Amino acid sequence: MWVRRILKNLQTARKRTCETRIMGDVYWRFIRSTIIFMDLPIIYHEDYVAPLPPGHRFPMAKFGLLYQMLLAEGVADRSQFHAPELLGSEWIQLVHDDDYIQAYCNGTLDDKAQRRIGLPWSPALVNRTCIACSGTVLTAKLALECGLACNTAGGTHHAFPNYGSGFCIFNDLAIASRVLQKMGLVRQVLIVDLDVHQGDGTATIFQDDSSVFTFSMHCEVNFPSVKQKSDLDVALPVGMEDDEYLQSLAKYLPDLLSDVNPDLVLYDAGVDPHQADKLGKLALTDTGLFRREMQVLSTCLAGGYPVACVIGGGYSDDMKGLVYRHSLLHRAASQVYRQYRL
Ligand SMILES: [Zn+2]
Repeated sequence: MWVRRILKNLQTARKRTCETRIMGDVYWRFIRSTIIFMDLPIIYHEDYVAPLPPGHRFPMAKFGLLYQMLLAEGVADRSQFHAPELLGSEWIQLVHDDDYIQAYCNGTLDDKAQRRIGLPWSPALVNRTCIACSGTVLTAKLALECGLACNTAGGTHHAFPNYGSGFCIFNDLAIASRVLQKMGLVRQVLIVDLDVHQGDGTATIFQDDSSVFTFSMHCEVNFPSVKQKSDLDVALPVGMEDDEYLQSLAKYLPDLLSDVNPDLVLYDAGVDPHQADKLGKLALTDTGLFRREMQVLSTCLAGGYPVACVIGGGYSDDMKGLVYRHSLLHRAASQVYRQYRL
């Protein structure tokens, strides 16, 4: 019993330590490396799900269902989950224009700007948007502390400084990069965006900022029709399957890591390159997605680069299949986390 009690105390201590993000916490690192290794930190908040009108094409329910699947299938237990606290707007201002933030939060965006986002405005959606961005910031902090962490939302890479598009309102990847830089926790960030759609908002935000390297590997004919210029864009042809896709990734990722030498990798693990995705035009299988996650995470961690993961896009009427595809990230991350005894 005493062993259990110690383990429980250590878990509580770890949670507290991770949440308060004390970099270089020698005490905790000593415990973690010498006595016990814990499981992957996962970030979730019940407000990740906000009501949408019935039949809306954005699969909002997936965030809550993903949380439930991870628990029900034993991928994670409750002690692994961390809930973010809401960020103040001063952090969002590191990326977005104040006029846009105020107009969105107050529900006064004009109809055209609102249509471009594609999600009907509501106070609950404003809260959801801000808590999801806060979740990615917490994911990034926990990744620095623990080596690897996964959000159960995030990847709103079509959000630009002064407007939103394609279901994206505020750019969580950009906000997390800038917040951590502002806090002095990182200098160089690498964004690895493997969603099937180009990370056009992220590319624009960091176009003149060499401290955040943007890498987007996407399908050449998918949205957006007008692509922006990332630091590295790899545009893939329609219908590409597992092996070619993974070979393409292997061609770029290891060199990128050694060239950029980031303090943190932010990984957008969109599952819309899947063959059954409603919007994506690539042809990966479930196995291909799982291999992709293992490849990205193993390559980064083997080089000693911490990775913060967000789930990115994924669209299907088969909600169970879609949630399973997203869960492949957490399944792979759990394996890699244990393998590296982070
Ligand atoms: Zn996408």
